[in-house]
Amino acid sequence: MTSSPSSSPSRPNSTVYDRLGVPTVINAHTTATRLSGGIMKPEVADAMREATQWTVDMATLEGRASELIAGYTGAEAGYVTAGAAAALLLGTAACVTGLDPAKMNRLPDTRGMKNEVVVARSHRNFYDHAVRAAGVTLVEVGISDRYSGAGVRDTEAWEIAAAINEYTAAVLYVAGRDARPTLPEVVAAAHSKGVPVLVDAAAQLPPAANLKRFIAEGADLVCYSGGKAIGGPQASGILCGKRDLVMAAALQHLDQDIFWEQWNPPASLFDKDRIPGLPQHGIGRPAKVGKEAIVGLLTALELFLAEGDDARIARWTVLMENLVAGLAGIPHATVTLVRDRRRPSVPTVHLALDEEAAGMTALDLVRRLQDGTPSVHANPSRVHDGLVLFSPVALKPGDEWVIAERVREEV
Ligand SMILES: *Cc1c(COP(=O)(O)O)cnc(C)c1O
Repeated sequence: MTSSPSSSPSRPNSTVYDRLGVPTVINAHTTATRLSGGIMKPEVADAMREATQWTVDMATLEGRASELIAGYTGAEAGYVTAGAAAALLLGTAACVTGLDPAKMNRLPDTRGMKNEVVVARSHRNFYDHAVRAAGVTLVEVGISDRYSGAGVRDTEAWEIAAAINEYTAAVLYVAGRDARPTLPEVVAAAHSKGVPVLVDAAAQLPPAANLKRFIAEGADLVCYSGGKAIGGPQASGILCGKRDLVMAAALQHLDQDIFWEQWNPPASLFDKDRIPGLPQHGIGRPAKVGKEAIVGLLTALELFLAEGDDARIARWTVLMENLVAGLAGIPHATVTLVRDRRRPSVPTVHLALDEEAAGMTALDLVRRLQDGTPSVHANPSRVHDGLVLFSPVALKPGDEWVIAERVREEV
C-alpha cells in the first residue's frame, strides 16, 4: 500500500467540469468511450497545449508521424487517425481505391469497384460499421459453434479463401487472444488470393509487444485506438501498414484544398509522381485530426513505450491491491485480484457477490454505484455470473479508496 484511505485524490476547488456543471465520474470500467476514456498524463496534455500555439503543414506533421509509427510498429508507414474506428474506415477505403484518385472521389459509391470485405462470422462486432461506411458489403463466413456451445469449431481459413473473389477488397480480422482462425492462417489464405488483411487491434495494447506483432504476422494494415491504454487523446488512433495503403488512406483524409503545383508532400508518406492528381476531400474528411491530437498521440505513445509493461502492471497492481485492502472483510462478497488469462497485462479486481445474502443482484450493485455520489462505474460484463469487475486503467491514484467506500455503503 502506498497510500492510505484518508488520502483521496487531490482536486482543485473548481475544475472545468464544475464550471460547466457536469459531474465527474470514477471510471473503473475500462477506457470506455462513453465514459470519456481515461486520464491523460500531464506530459501529454502539456505537449498538446504547446502544439496549439503554432501552425504547421499537416501533411508534413503526418509524414513525421508516419516515420515514428513505422519505427514503433515495424510497419512501412503509419498515420494518426481520429480513433481506431476512423482507422478502419480509412483502411477499408484504401483497400477499395488503391492509389486511384477517381475512385477516391466516388466513395462511398463503390459500384464496379472491389467492394466486398470478407470476415469470419465470429469477428462481427459493433465497430465494423466503420468498415461498411466506406461503401463495402461484409461477406460473413463460417459458423462459430464454439460460441453457441453446439461444438468446438469456428470459421476456418479455407472458408475465408473460398469466399474471396474478384470483388474482394480486403479481409477484416478482429484481433484478440481467442480470435480464430489465427492471424497467420488468415494472412496466408488472403495473400494466396492477392487480397490484403485489415486488422482491428483497437484494444490490444498492452502488451506493448502487440504494436509489432500483427505487422510481423503479415497484416497489411493494423488499427489501434489512441484513447485506450496508450493514454493519448480520447479521439485518436493509429493506422499502420503497407506504404501504398497508408498513402491511399492519407489521400482520403488530409485536406486537399491546394493547387497540384503547390503540393509538396513529405516523401515518407507520398509519392507525388505515382498519382495523376489530387482527389477532392475524401471519405475520411469527416474524421479530421487536429495537430494537437497528432502531437498528443505521439507523445503518449513514446511514454507508453518508455514505461513498459512491467512498470505499468506494477502501477496498476498497487491500485488494485489497495482496492482489495479497502474492501477487506466486506460482508456478502468475495474480493479477488485477478490476472485474467485473456488480459494478463491488466490486473483487475473481481467482486463476487452473494446475491441472496446481499439482497441484490450484481447488476443492482453496478447500478447503485453508478447512481451514487460520486458516480462509480464498474464493469458489468460478468454480472450474469454474480461478478462486478473493477479495472485500474482509467483510475487516478486515490480513486480506489473512494470506490471501496462507495461499495461498503451499498453492500
Ligand atoms: C474500442 C474499439 C474500437 C474503436 O476504437 P476508437 O479508438 O474508440 O475509435 C474498434 N474496435 C474494437 C475491437 C474496439 O475495442
